[in-house]
Amino acid sequence: MTTITRNVQATQARLNQACFTAGHNPETVRLLAVSKLHPADAVRQAHAAGLCAFGENYVQEGIDKIAALADLRTALEWHLIGPLQSNKTRAVAEAFDWVHSVDRLKTAQRLSDQRPDGLPPLNVCLQVNISGEESKSGAAPADVPALARAVAALPRLRLRGLMSIPEPEADLEAQQRPHRALRTLFDQLNAQGLALDTLSMGMSADLEAAILEGATLVRIGTAIFGARSSGGA
Ligand SMILES: *Cc1c(COP(=O)(O)O)cnc(C)c1O
Repeated sequence: MTTITRNVQATQARLNQACFTAGHNPETVRLLAVSKLHPADAVRQAHAAGLCAFGENYVQEGIDKIAALADLRTALEWHLIGPLQSNKTRAVAEAFDWVHSVDRLKTAQRLSDQRPDGLPPLNVCLQVNISGEESKSGAAPADVPALARAVAALPRLRLRGLMSIPEPEADLEAQQRPHRALRTLFDQLNAQGLALDTLSMGMSADLEAAILEGATLVRIGTAIFGARSSGGA
């Protein structure tokens, strides 16, 4: 058994245990394997171990990996989870299945305009700066309702939910707080008539806290692929 296979099994066991503790059905939480800074062969191994959804942070690296794994294209789902600049939207609209990091209407409009007709609508989450920290990525919570309504109206996008990357915290309760705030915002949007089904929150270090607060998709890199050699916070 490869290390990646073992890690996938251990991560799935962690996810199942967290769902059990939270009283959630494990089938309601998707595992997104974050493969940034790991080679295409690592994705192949994770796919052989049963995973099919992969997250990339850097547009060009993601596009190169998608091309290197073209033989698996229909079996895999590719998610962009890193920052997206306007000049890269066309490449992303053509190559990816999901984007989690939309935080302004202009980017969403470009993605919708540039999504090829032959592909299904691009799945989108709005990134929210939920703890209001200095990080510049993510829409302010107060701006999210209007942004969500505008993005939901774009023809070639399908607004699926919200994503956040809170500041790292050591203890469970501190980890739960920003996840709970994102969950509350998510519930408010659905109460206002949006039909969101995806709460993208939780990484290797705070998977349990995210699942306790109702994550429907956790983004796990290190616990599956090991430490990254460079960059990619
Ligand atoms: C790198 C990254 C992850 C995965 O982080 P790990 O701690 O390695 O699990 C998840 N989400 C985003 C947005 C990331 O950039």
